[in-house]
Amino acid sequence: MNKTVLITGSTSGIGLGIAKQFAKEGYNIMFHGLESNGAEIAEAVGKKQHINVAFSNANLMQSDAIEQLIEDTISTFGALHVLVNNAGIQFVSPIEDFPNSKYENIIAINMNAVFYASKAVWKQMKKQKFGRIINISSVHGIRASEYKSAYVTAKHGVIGMTKVLALEGAKFNITCNAICPGYVKTPLVEGQIKDQAKAHHMTEAEVVEKVMLIKQAVKQFVPLEAIADMAILLAKESSTTITGTEFVLDGGWSAQ
Ligand code: NAD
Repeated sequence: MNKTVLITGSTSGIGLGIAKQFAKEGYNIMFHGLESNGAEIAEAVGKKQHINVAFSNANLMQSDAIEQLIEDTISTFGALHVLVNNAGIQFVSPIEDFPNSKYENIIAINMNAVFYASKAVWKQMKKQKFGRIINISSVHGIRASEYKSAYVTAKHGVIGMTKVLALEGAKFNITCNAICPGYVKTPLVEGQIKDQAKAHHMTEAEVVEKVMLIKQAVKQFVPLEAIADMAILLAKESSTTITGTEFVLDGGWSAQ
């Protein structure tokens, strides 16, 4: 039987990169995201790799929509083996101007949704005696940068939650780990380049060189494939003792 994976925010960026790799491994995939062409993206990946797919545009700002997303995944595929909590947003501003609504949205989507989704899959994963929860945190889950008070708070929170779920899941063969990428060139980062250019009064090229990649020893954006390969490893049956930890793919940023 093919295993089933739900990847939140998988119709764009890192989530889509992860989904394509799970597709190559033959997983059933519940695609998810707010992109208006999400259903077509899911269908195209499904056709290419001859796998079963479905798509949901559940709004992760709402706990009942998240519960419904989990229920829909289980009823569509009959199981849910791997949950990748990937969806996230960003907003960059000095704290004194940081809009409260932006702060609250970042905490809701980047952190609270991880709690609601993990809570909702728990019963099914316990029943299966198998579960793999993979949280896409960030190097900002272990390091700070100015102007990112909401994002850094949420991403640190996700790492704390990862450790708790690892402990609670240990006796049920449910593992929980976090992946912490440095900068990856996705629509989220392209938006940030624009915002940072404004905040730092720089050109976009200067932001990439002097702000984004300045802290990475390896002067490249992290490739999507590296994150996807790590997720595939963490999802394996044999990864049962890999739990409660973070895998930092940051080009040497946090080595300093
Ligand atoms: P992206 O903007 O390309 O994709 C984000 C996805 O989340 C989209 O599919 C979007 O529809 C979905 N989403 C956003 N708000 C939602 C909501 N309210 N309800 C449902 N879905 C929603 O971003 P990305 O760069 O691929 O980021 C993916 C994850 O990786 C995020 O958690 C981000 O914080 C993290 N991350 C990104 C980078 C990077 O450099 N791009 C680095 C480290 C961590």
